[in-house]
Amino acid sequence: MAAPKPNTLAAFQAAKGFMPVDEGLALYDAAADAAALGLPLLEVGTYCGRSTLLIADAAREAAVTAITVDHHRGSEEQQPGWEYHDPEVVDPEVGLMDTLPTFRRTLHRAGLEDHVIAVVGRSPQVARAWGGPLGLVFIDGGHTDEHANGDYEGWAPHLAEGGLLLIHDVFPDPADGGRAPYRVYLRALESGAFTEVSATGSLRVLRRTGAGI
Ligand code: SAH
Ligand code: MG
Repeated sequence: MAAPKPNTLAAFQAAKGFMPVDEGLALYDAAADAAALGLPLLEVGTYCGRSTLLIADAAREAAVTAITVDHHRGSEEQQPGWEYHDPEVVDPEVGLMDTLPTFRRTLHRAGLEDHVIAVVGRSPQVARAWGGPLGLVFIDGGHTDEHANGDYEGWAPHLAEGGLLLIHDVFPDPADGGRAPYRVYLRALESGAFTEVSATGSLRVLRRTGAGI
């Protein structure tokens, strides 16, 4: 299994975010695999850059670019009063969440700024403007059916044959969490365009092996 640089892993562990280490290592391994295609690696759901660091490390290693998309205003469950809210990432001037400054510090500290293009915008809108093929699509954005399906519909068609589709927060058991990402995972498999590669915690790795998304 390909492994991130020790200082990247340390930066990952120190960063704010929602990904445990075992899933992070699986993410890095998948990103290293996908990077061999020589195409950009794309993440939906930057937040403060925790997972971005690992994709960026794999991108650096293969001399490709990591692209990470987020409007930086937070998902539903991260808003004030909700379970995953962090008051440290509120912009006091506008009174809304803004994870972009924290993300930039995370990336800078890890020395990975040159390997990442951060796109600030809504995932479906960015996807509509996107032109080229991708080696990896990592879906870790909004967790409603609308957002998870929008991410899949917007980005999966850009995935090159042999590229990897990763979906985070896949919970087959409703007791573990919301099931929109799980439904998108099933949808991808049912399309016939993907073959499952691995499952680590709530992270699923699928390879694009056919057309018809
Ligand atoms: N990958 C991160 C966690 C992402 S949390 C980590 O490893 O820590 C989910 C993020 O998705 C939030 O930052 C939220 O702002 C973003 N998001 C939710 N819906 C979105 C949408 N439709 N377009 C762009 N970003 C979105
Ligand atoms: Mg997640």
